[in-house]
Amino acid sequence: LREEKVIIIGAGPCGLSAAVELKDKGIDPLIIEKGNVANSIYNYPTHQTFFSSAEKLEVGNYPFISERQKPVRNEALTYYRMVADRSDVRINTYETVKSIEQNENNYSIFTENNIGDKISYLADDIIIATGYYDHPNKLGVEGEDLPHVFHYFEEAHPYFNQNVVVIGGKNSAVDAALELEKAGANVTVLYRGSDYSSSVKPWILPVFESLVNHEKIEMVFDAEIKKITTEQVIFEQNGETRQVSSDFIFAMVGYHPDQTFLEAVGIEIDFETGRPYFDHQTMETNVTNIYIAGVIAAGYNNNEIFIENGRHHGLKIANHIQSKRKHGEKL
Ligand code: FAD
Ligand code: NAP
Repeated sequence: LREEKVIIIGAGPCGLSAAVELKDKGIDPLIIEKGNVANSIYNYPTHQTFFSSAEKLEVGNYPFISERQKPVRNEALTYYRMVADRSDVRINTYETVKSIEQNENNYSIFTENNIGDKISYLADDIIIATGYYDHPNKLGVEGEDLPHVFHYFEEAHPYFNQNVVVIGGKNSAVDAALELEKAGANVTVLYRGSDYSSSVKPWILPVFESLVNHEKIEMVFDAEIKKITTEQVIFEQNGETRQVSSDFIFAMVGYHPDQTFLEAVGIEIDFETGRPYFDHQTMETNVTNIYIAGVIAAGYNNNEIFIENGRHHGLKIANHIQSKRKHGEKL
């Protein structure tokens, strides 16, 4: 059993931020990360442009300089690697946290690495910063598991001259549709909403709308997906059953956090919103000495916490852990 003071689960921007803030206060946490640093950003579409400007993605006091108005995925990967490197934060990579158990005075954490070794730790404080990007939402319709249906978009080139259906109406769907159209795919977007979503970034929407108006992208509102076959997507619109030919389908319908080990250790989760119970001043959950950081705090809502605001959770947590140490509090 390896003994640690603070274990952070997840080396995304918000887990990293917590680590840097703790180090700043003389506390040396261990991050356990199932992939490598900024694993979710690594899995973004290859040519993703952020909606945030570079300084709003910064953690700790490490400057993020980009000559672009909004940085791209590769720059952010370079930046977060640099933060990990310069801050000298300890990260056990390619190791997945499987469960947490409460002991009388601390917690046991059980992990497994990529070669199947099982490892156990003891920790006084735990910060859960596991994000949501590993778990795409499902439509729950027949045919969703066919091999030409994807929940992540990488690059557009393979879809040149193909009939592609994009499902969803917020930023991932709109971004994918724009890239696909640019690469010469025949794109249809099926959206359950009756109008463009107000979540679509205001500098993206006019470009998208213009392509729709020029019949370069077909936009279908009020489309309720019923079934996916090898050749078609079948949907209902205003009570009428319709279908569209599709060689490939991108179901860009959002993501949800995995809350299994949160629930197992007793963290209360609101059934409807998926939001864990936590104190907004300290980010501590209802389970003493277990904190949450980053987008996991927003439950099922993908449009409430981002890097921009989730990166500030780390300082709140570090302040609380430091003040407990000063007062000699234990579990
Ligand atoms: P994540 O970055 O998801 O990090 C969680 C980490 O935990 C991952 O590295 C994961 O591998 C690891 N992990 C998960 N489970 C385990 C486990 N059991 N054991 C060990 N490790 C585990 N936000 C902005 O502010 N600005 C933007 O411009 C922006 N653009 C975006 C573009 C796209 C395409 C997407 C999808 C999101 C965007 N966001 C943006 C949102 C942003 O990506 C997320 O808010 C951010 O990644 C959240 O950071 P996080 O640290 O909370 O979680
Ligand atoms: P999202 O914001 O959760 O949007 C999901 C979309 O799918 C919504 O339009 C939703 O409809 C629809 N949907 C959900 N469940 C559905 C179902 N069962 N059937 C049909 N449609 C369904 O997810 P996202 O677009 O992937 O964005 C995720 C996060 O990444 C957000 O934080 C976003 O800001 C970020 N992002 C940023 C960028 C960027 O920086 N440029 C790009 C992409 C994503 P409703 O509209 O009716 O809810």
